[in-house]
Amino acid sequence: MPAKQRILIAEDDRSISNFMKTILESNNYDVLCAASGSDACFVAENHCPDLLLLDLGLPDLDGLQLIKRIRSWSAMPIIVVSARTHELDKVNALDLGADDYITKPFGTNELLARIRTALRHGGTPSSQLDIKQSGCYHVGELVIDYDKYRVYLGGEDAKLTQNEFKLVALLGRYAGKVLTYDTIIRAIWGPNAPTDNQILRVNMANIRRKIEKCPARPEYIFTEVGIGYRLVDVESYEAKNN
Ligand code: CA
Repeated sequence: MPAKQRILIAEDDRSISNFMKTILESNNYDVLCAASGSDACFVAENHCPDLLLLDLGLPDLDGLQLIKRIRSWSAMPIIVVSARTHELDKVNALDLGADDYITKPFGTNELLARIRTALRHGGTPSSQLDIKQSGCYHVGELVIDYDKYRVYLGGEDAKLTQNEFKLVALLGRYAGKVLTYDTIIRAIWGPNAPTDNQILRVNMANIRRKIEKCPARPEYIFTEVGIGYRLVDVESYEAKNN
């Protein structure tokens, strides 16, 4: 039997922490718990978890600082689980290198799906995003062909421009994961590109006209309002369409 994957929960609210622990253990994960930021750092350094579930409001240390600290030595996936709903908190967490963000209250299935996605990507600090990949990514009727630099919808070439392809290719490579506007702009237009979302919005509108049956109700690329975009992963697509 393969070794269980180990998840560290950094959460000071005992009832939430116990709730998550129960769900995770019954889904065959090994669980460690820490109730403060300094505890979480200690456990992360000494017990090599495969993933960190992080509450931002810890008693001794802000979760954002903890992300920064852990990212200085580790690429382990970090999912923020927080009651803070402000867009800026989410953007800051993701730009500091968190992999995903779940707002409390959350559903069990959502939590488990996000964990599986993050573990699959194996931790991707936002400064190291890379579009390069080979083969194809299939979801629903959408195919991203990384070798031919083309995107097909229902077998037809969607005729994307070069930048449109790069955008879809990047989101496809990190399917299921939200990428912030800044992260996407830096990956596509370079580190010195103006962080103005207008160019991204225009490109996205054109992409949606080409790959979505109904651009106002997208099936493939979702807007996380005020934060960024997420391309649907196969598991979520199938859960929705079956
Ligand atoms: Ca808290």
